[in-house]
Amino acid sequence: MKPPPAPAPAAAPAAPVLATLATLAALASLAPPAAAQMRSEFQARCEDTIGRTVSVLSSRQDGYRIDNSRSYHDLTRMKGRLRPGAYVLGLTHTEARVSIRVGGQLLTDPGSGYECIAPRIDVTLWYLPIVVYVGREFAPGSCAYQEVLAHELRHLHTYLEYLPAAESRVRAALAQRFENKPLYARIGQAQSLLQREVDRGWMPYIKGEMGKVEALQAAIDSPQEYARLGKVCAGEVQSLVRSTRKKPS
Ligand SMILES: [Zn+2]
Repeated sequence: MKPPPAPAPAAAPAAPVLATLATLAALASLAPPAAAQMRSEFQARCEDTIGRTVSVLSSRQDGYRIDNSRSYHDLTRMKGRLRPGAYVLGLTHTEARVSIRVGGQLLTDPGSGYECIAPRIDVTLWYLPIVVYVGREFAPGSCAYQEVLAHELRHLHTYLEYLPAAESRVRAALAQRFENKPLYARIGQAQSLLQREVDRGWMPYIKGEMGKVEALQAAIDSPQEYARLGKVCAGEVQSLVRSTRKKPS
């Protein structure tokens, strides 16, 4: 049996299953040859039951839409947590979603008091429909609109391209842990141990992987990019912001 998988968050919840495996191995080594033979037959049955263990799917079919109805003041409020005096001219908004279905076929060995589960884990990763906002101060077709939209589309494509990358990393990590490996536990416990490992280890790990896209998004919003946007279209972007800025009261 290999040690727990690479993703650190999964290591802790994996421990109970591995601990029971160790107990099983210890039992077998003390047992008479006949019982050891029984155990290996049980193991063989468990291993033969293993089918397709892990499935990870991502979907980009929800797509995106462009919204030009909100002022950049609204967008600035939606974004939140900006330094004073900073404005948001466009915004690409979505939320990542993760669903994990856990199941698997159980086999019991009343003689030893153990059962095994051939895990079946189905993961789906997707984004809620993505909305690309461009401040309504920017008239569609104008140079400033095109520049702000082009910037937001870089964010959009970063989201869309990130999904399959996250999908393959998650699939590899799950396969390393579960593929072709029945999990053993005392009778009545395998399903709940598996569910607990998924809930406490794999769900946070996968959400973390989905969240890493935000670092890529932040890299797009570099000081150089903001400086560039300030100068494009003969300064049109900057002057639109200045002309609509509220006077201090
Ligand atoms: Zn940006």
